[in-house]
Amino acid sequence: MRHKQDINFVSIVIPVYNEADSLQELITRTCAAADTMGKDYELLLVDDGSKDNSADQIEAAAAQEGSHVVGIILNRNYGQHNAIMAGFEHVRGDLIVTLDADLQNPPEEIPNLVAKAEEGYDSVGTVRKNRQDSRLRRYPSMLINKIVKRSTGVEMNDYGCMLRAYRRHVVDAMLQCHERSTFIPILANGFARHTVEIDVEHSERQQGESKYNIMGLINLMFDLLTSMTTAPLRMLSIMGGAIAALGGLFGLVLLFMRLIYGAEWGVDGVFPLFALLFIFIGAQFVGLGLLGEYIGRIYSDVRARPRYYVQDVLVGEATKQARDNDVNADNNDN
Ligand code: UDP
Ligand code: MG
Repeated sequence: MRHKQDINFVSIVIPVYNEADSLQELITRTCAAADTMGKDYELLLVDDGSKDNSADQIEAAAAQEGSHVVGIILNRNYGQHNAIMAGFEHVRGDLIVTLDADLQNPPEEIPNLVAKAEEGYDSVGTVRKNRQDSRLRRYPSMLINKIVKRSTGVEMNDYGCMLRAYRRHVVDAMLQCHERSTFIPILANGFARHTVEIDVEHSERQQGESKYNIMGLINLMFDLLTSMTTAPLRMLSIMGGAIAALGGLFGLVLLFMRLIYGAEWGVDGVFPLFALLFIFIGAQFVGLGLLGEYIGRIYSDVRARPRYYVQDVLVGEATKQARDNDVNADNNDN
């Protein structure tokens, strides 16, 4: 059963890194779109250490009379997802919408996301109908989407699209995660009960270039992978086991051949050596995998994600009174 909690206030979080050329249009279009929702809203622009005058523009926009803009200025560049997290720290809304500053995600879609969330969803994802990116960007994300689907079991078709909406409790839960590098859509999925995806438009980048070069993209994919699972570490053990088993099998086959066909078969010793080698290589991988298991556990303890997240405690009115009284009494004791 989905909760139909009201959404009265919407926070829009946008990370900004050297986007001076499109910032004005972004603010105008986003506010225009948000005005049509008929709800209160704020626009949190997080300057991620831009080297152009984005920060000044944000400051000016926030200072304007009656402005919905909240400026958050980071001292240096921390990366897109960290910038969004910084924005999350300061949101006031019941629903938080994220999008990119480069206008590839049309702000006009925001009311649609909000409407969908109002049906009772905790997280609203988006699928880019006609993705306007280079092949270099598209193919790796297709692969990633497949892996994600398989290893999280959550049906999400487009993790790369940052135009998303999360209920406040999902954002609060994400703020309790302490890992340094993270991938927000996936992290959010871990805390959302009801998720849904809608189709959105996607346009070409109008100003400037993608802020991700090849290394940045590789980095992002590792962030995504490690934020989701430590399964690759376990693969080491599995692979090692398989190699060792194959080596053992190979050795057995050689032994049989030798017993059946006599000493002239495989005597020169190269093949048995291979069999031995495989067994040892396999054993090494198993050892590595074991190390990996420990590292995986250390990693999951270090990032200290909440063990579980209670979204709601449901009690009747009378019990609620009694419980509130208990809490108050406890507080007075201390
Ligand atoms: N961004 C950021 N910090 C960074 C890199 C990017 O805040 O270090 C912001 C950028 O301003 C934009 C969003 O993240 O709003 C997505 O960046 P971009 O459009 O360059 O990535 P792409 O669309 O190629 O994935
Ligand atoms: Mg972009």
